[in-house]
Amino acid sequence: MLKKTSHFLREANLIGGEWVQADSGQTIDVTNPANGQKIGVVPKSGAAETRRAIEAAHEAFKTFRKTTALERSKMLRKLHDAIMDNQDALAELLTMEQGKSLTESKGEIGASAAYILWFAEEARRTYGDVVPSPWADRRILVTKEPVGVIAAITPWNFPSSMLSRKIGPAIAAGCTSVIKPASQTPYSGLAWGALCEEVGIPKGVVNVVTGAASEIGKELSTNPLVKKITFTGSTEVGKILIQQSALTVKKVSMELGGNAPFLVFDDADIDRAVEGAIAAKYRNSGQTCVCTNRFFVQSGIYDAFVDKLAKASNKLKVGPGLEVGVQQGPLIDEKAVEKVEEFVADAKSKGGKVVAGGNRHQLGGSFFEPTVIADATPEMKFMKEEIFGPVAPVFRFEKEEEAVEMANDTEFGLACYFYTGDLGRAFRVMEGLKYGMVGVNEGIITTPEAPFGGVKESGLGREGGRQGIEDYLDTKYVCIGGLGL
Ligand code: ADP
Repeated sequence: MLKKTSHFLREANLIGGEWVQADSGQTIDVTNPANGQKIGVVPKSGAAETRRAIEAAHEAFKTFRKTTALERSKMLRKLHDAIMDNQDALAELLTMEQGKSLTESKGEIGASAAYILWFAEEARRTYGDVVPSPWADRRILVTKEPVGVIAAITPWNFPSSMLSRKIGPAIAAGCTSVIKPASQTPYSGLAWGALCEEVGIPKGVVNVVTGAASEIGKELSTNPLVKKITFTGSTEVGKILIQQSALTVKKVSMELGGNAPFLVFDDADIDRAVEGAIAAKYRNSGQTCVCTNRFFVQSGIYDAFVDKLAKASNKLKVGPGLEVGVQQGPLIDEKAVEKVEEFVADAKSKGGKVVAGGNRHQLGGSFFEPTVIADATPEMKFMKEEIFGPVAPVFRFEKEEEAVEMANDTEFGLACYFYTGDLGRAFRVMEGLKYGMVGVNEGIITTPEAPFGGVKESGLGREGGRQGIEDYLDTKYVCIGGLGL
C-alpha cells in the first residue's frame, strides 16, 4: 500500500473535528472485493454517535452560516486543489475498497474535484431578487439562506463523487453536514473528512459517521436539527427515508434507482452506437444507476449491432482494478454475482440467447464475464428490474413508437440514451422519453455543469448544474414597509 494512501485510510468517525471510535468500540471489516482480503476496520456507530455528529454540525452552523460566499468559495477551491494533489492516492484507496479499475477511479476522483470546483463558483451566485413592489412605501426582497444541517447518505458504487455533489453545494450554500458513507466503501467517505480538515474547513462543518445503516439513517431522518436529507441509493431505502423525514418535514433530495433504456434506430451510426453502448453498459462493471439496463435495437440493424456489441464485450479486460490495463473489476460482492446469475438464468429459460459471456469469470471471486443476451423479451426480469452488473440484454423492435413505449414502461426515469441520424426523430424521441436525462448519440453524459437526477421513482431534486445548490437553500421573502416614500 502506498504511504499516501494509508494517510487517507481513516478508521474512525469524524465528529466536531475529532476522530473518534464508536461508543461500543465495535467495528466493521472493510474488504477488497478483488481478493476478499481485509483492508481495515471502521467504527460500527449507531444513533448516539449520529446524534452527537448532528449536534456538532448544528453548533458549527451558528458561525459557518455567517461566513461570506467568497470565503466559502475559496475553501472549496482549496479542497479542489487538495483532491487533485492526492488524486493517485485517493484513486488507489477507491479501487482497493470498491473494485473498479484504477483508470475509472482516477476519473471518479477527477470528477469529485470538478464538482467541488463547480460549487466553488456557484457559491458566489446564489442571487436573490428585488421585486417591483405593488406598494409605494414598501420594498420586496427575496433572499437565499443556507437550510442548516444537512444529512448525506451515499452508496458504494461512486463512494467519492456521490459525496462531492452533496458536500460541494452544502459548503457553498453555508450548510454543515453529517455524512454516512456505505459500509462497503467507507474510506473514500472518511477521506472527505481528512481532506476538509487539511484545507482548514472549520471543525464540525463536515462530520462523518460509519456504521449501522438503518440506525444512523433513522436518526438522520428524524432528528429535528437536520433540515435536509440527501440520499443516493436504492428506491427502496429512499422511500423509507422520505417517510421518516416526513415527521419533521425535511427537504429531501433523492437519487434513486434507474432502468436505463438505450435505443438504436436503423439510421444510427452503428459503430458510434456500439462505442456508446460499451461505455453506458460496462462502466464500473455495470454497477451504476445510469448504466444501460435494456438495449432496444431496430430490426434492420439488429443482427449487426448484436454481433459488434458481443465482439466489443469479449475484448474487455477483466481483472483486479489495480492491475494495469484492466477495464472491468469485480462486482462488489458475492450477492451481486448471484443476482446477475439469476437474471441470466431467467433470460435463458425464456428464450434469451447468450452471445457473449454468461458466466462467472475464471478469475473466481466476484468476477463476472461481460455478457450480451440477444432475443430479449419483455417477460424477462431485466425489463423491470435493475441488473447492476455487466449484462446487456438486447430487445428487437420494428417501429419508433413501439420502442419509446417499451422504454417508458417502467416506474423508473433516470437516464436514457438513443442513437439516430435523423434530426426530426431525435426531437420526437427526446420529447417522448419520460426521463430526467437523455443522451442523444452519447453514452456518457454526466458533468458538473448539468443537472443530474431523475423523474418518477428515480428521485427528487437535481445534483450539479445551477440547480444543484437550490436544495441547500431556503428562500426568504422580506417586506420592508413604512418607508414613507
Ligand atoms: P445499494 O443497493 O447501492 O447498496 P442501498 O440503498 O441499500 O443501495 O444503500 C445506499 C446507502 O444507504 C448505503 O450507505 C447504505 O448503508 C444506506 N442504507 C441502507 N439501508 C438504510 C436505511 N434503512 N436507512 C438509511 N440508510 C440506509
